[in-house]
Amino acid sequence: MIVGPGSTIGIIGGGQLGRMLAVAAAQLGYKCHILDPNPIAAAAQVSAHFTCAAYDDLGALREMADSVVVATYEFENLPVGPLEVLGDKLNPSTRSLEIAQDRAREKAFIEECGGRVAPWREISAIDGVNSAVAELGCPIVLKTRRWGYDGKGQAWVRADDETANAWSAIGEEAAIAEAGVDFVAEFSVIVARWADGRHCFWDSARNEHGGGILRRSTVPCSAEVAVQIAEAREAALRIAEALDHVGVLTVEFFASRDGPVVNEIAPRVHNSGHWTIEGAVTSQFEQHIRAICGLPPGSTDLVGSGAVMNNLIGDEVHGWAELVAQPDLHVHIYGKGEARPGRKMGHVTRVAP
Ligand code: AMP
Repeated sequence: MIVGPGSTIGIIGGGQLGRMLAVAAAQLGYKCHILDPNPIAAAAQVSAHFTCAAYDDLGALREMADSVVVATYEFENLPVGPLEVLGDKLNPSTRSLEIAQDRAREKAFIEECGGRVAPWREISAIDGVNSAVAELGCPIVLKTRRWGYDGKGQAWVRADDETANAWSAIGEEAAIAEAGVDFVAEFSVIVARWADGRHCFWDSARNEHGGGILRRSTVPCSAEVAVQIAEAREAALRIAEALDHVGVLTVEFFASRDGPVVNEIAPRVHNSGHWTIEGAVTSQFEQHIRAICGLPPGSTDLVGSGAVMNNLIGDEVHGWAELVAQPDLHVHIYGKGEARPGRKMGHVTRVAP
């Protein structure tokens, strides 16, 4: 089905990803309807319609289902059941969401798809943490199965006597224990897929994290990463196909000495693809809108020879005056309220000529 310009697209979640999706949709002539419990949601500021409601508010979701032609979501920590009221209008479907929001299901699914993951164990009690350390060796990282993001809900065990502290640090919640990967670099594969199976990739960015939060993405990535991209793309595409995913899907990888190891999947546009707004002919945001509306794919070619994207985290955004004074820097500020530590407030991209 082709959804033409003039139609309204529902977006569940009104953070910066929803905001950049809405801007891309507006450029193509669509209107967006945002649903978010935050009354000052970043995406609502640039969208035609906004419902301030909880993500499990069935009345609000039904109203959205009646008023939009297609709907999507901008993050994976959403209750799946209530979203079913959006039916076939929701793309990607709730299946992508279900897999991506539970780290144990996600790991098992990646393995079923033939992807390489770090050795891992499901954990439900401290005994499990001790056995995981005995079986996998230190270091391991505990990650809550659900609701984690940007390094939240994670604790490292670097020595046998740290298990109790780590278990308590993640709130003694259902979790996975994962062997620490000795990687040479981190990178991501972003794929856009259409309902008829058409798909395209962007160049992979090398991603640098600090404290579990993405700081910088660089395209092109280094040579040591470049040799792993073909295998990583195959894995990412198998995952997208197995999910019958429609829209953008991101797979984060560790470039290890044994080849690409999948860290996690995000069933959505991704921070490591923000460089595509100015650095590629078609951005990840526009492509997602094209895919869910059934428009043809735009080119994912580079505009210049590469790009570097830096996040503005917490009070870094207060340096905006110096940033906008650099004429070749693309400055994005998300319009969020308080610049709390660790909060993604904006990003800047420089495209290499
Ligand atoms: P995640 O929330 O799973 O993406 O983790 C955030 C960051 O923590 C990753 O991007 C890595 O830098 C680091 N990390 C997570 N899991 C591992 C692991 N198994 N081995 C090494 N580093 C990891």
